[in-house]
Amino acid sequence: MVVEIFSSIQGEGLHLGRRQIFIRLADCNLSCAYCDTEFFRASLFPCEIRPGCGFSTDRENPVPGYEIAELVAGWNRDLPGAHHSISITGGEPLCQAAALAIWLPELRKILPIHLETNGTLPEALAPLLSEIDFISIDFKLASVTGVTTPWEEHKRFLALAAQSPCQVKLVVGPQTSFDELGTAVRFIHDIAPDVPLILQPQTIERRVSLAAHQLLEMQALAAAIHRDIRVIPQVHHFLNAP
Ligand code: SF4
Repeated sequence: MVVEIFSSIQGEGLHLGRRQIFIRLADCNLSCAYCDTEFFRASLFPCEIRPGCGFSTDRENPVPGYEIAELVAGWNRDLPGAHHSISITGGEPLCQAAALAIWLPELRKILPIHLETNGTLPEALAPLLSEIDFISIDFKLASVTGVTTPWEEHKRFLALAAQSPCQVKLVVGPQTSFDELGTAVRFIHDIAPDVPLILQPQTIERRVSLAAHQLLEMQALAAAIHRDIRVIPQVHHFLNAP
């Protein structure tokens, strides 16, 4: 079940600024306090009329994989070279692993596949790994999500994902303590010592919620544990992009 399909600029992490075709899937297995994403199932979903035009037409769920592949191939032909990759996002896209097993081989013939995931469903990831070019894992801190960090699920997921190109994003906010951050960075480092680790300050009402000095203190703490630390806020809000 799809929630929306559109073309936009990646606003987070290592691929910031790249244009992607976003396929947002329904459902999620978590309920984070800061979640601002629509991921509920509906019989119709909006799909941009032309890539990036901002106007959509409704399509019917469940949509067959070949229709999505035709659409993406058409957008790729119309704007050659414009799109870097396809972002499979959600919700939690691995909630629909069975559909992805059918869709990804066809979509990957058109553009590389990037998966945006909350990193808690390792069994769903395992059979799809060979069809995914890049994995972006949101590591869930309790101070930000309002729910207990799923340490065990993150551990098994990271161990698997680290075999592929990937990044880990840690959303940090005003409630995040140095203790919590340090524990999480050490945990990630022990499993995936070479993974790029992004400290992403929480966006509240379209503003970065931490002062520069707070972020720099967090960066110093994390960098004393893990080699590859980047501080990257969300930027799509500044582009007025979805
Ligand atoms: S994992 Fe992502 S989509 Fe799911 S509730 Fe948390 S923020 Fe929302």
